[in-house]
Amino acid sequence: MNDDPIGSLSELYQEVILDHYKKPRNFGLLPDANRSAEGHNPLCGDHVLLHVRLKGDAIDDVRFQGKGCAISTSSASMMTEAVKGKSRAEAEALFEKFHALVTGGGNGKAGLGKLEAFGGVSEFPVRVKCASLAWHTLKAALEGSGESISTE
Ligand code: ZN
Repeated sequence: MNDDPIGSLSELYQEVILDHYKKPRNFGLLPDANRSAEGHNPLCGDHVLLHVRLKGDAIDDVRFQGKGCAISTSSASMMTEAVKGKSRAEAEALFEKFHALVTGGGNGKAGLGKLEAFGGVSEFPVRVKCASLAWHTLKAALEGSGESISTE
């Protein structure tokens, strides 16, 4: 059984994912965050803590902490880049597209930019949770539930 979604990706996508894994963007505390949420993926052991500063309806700033596999860490890193400055509705629309991409349904590829690097994950059901963990956590943070979420 092939359990290496990264190895099966094109070189360009591998590079993007490994780059974000080694040098996560927007990593750390956000002292003036007004929303936060925590996410766990027990299947893989991924853990993400997300801090969001909402200004009105816009995601003014977002950072994350935690520890996980290459897929979950790079996905969190790219997610923070993708949603920063977006409105809640825009971020949620992006999540829907991303979810369609990693689960292999719909026309998930439209306008996702480098997030498309995660398209290959759809062939690895276990890894879909790694890739979508940060997004689920973002949703929880935006909804202000303040509770920790689990992919299980
Ligand atoms: Zn993982």
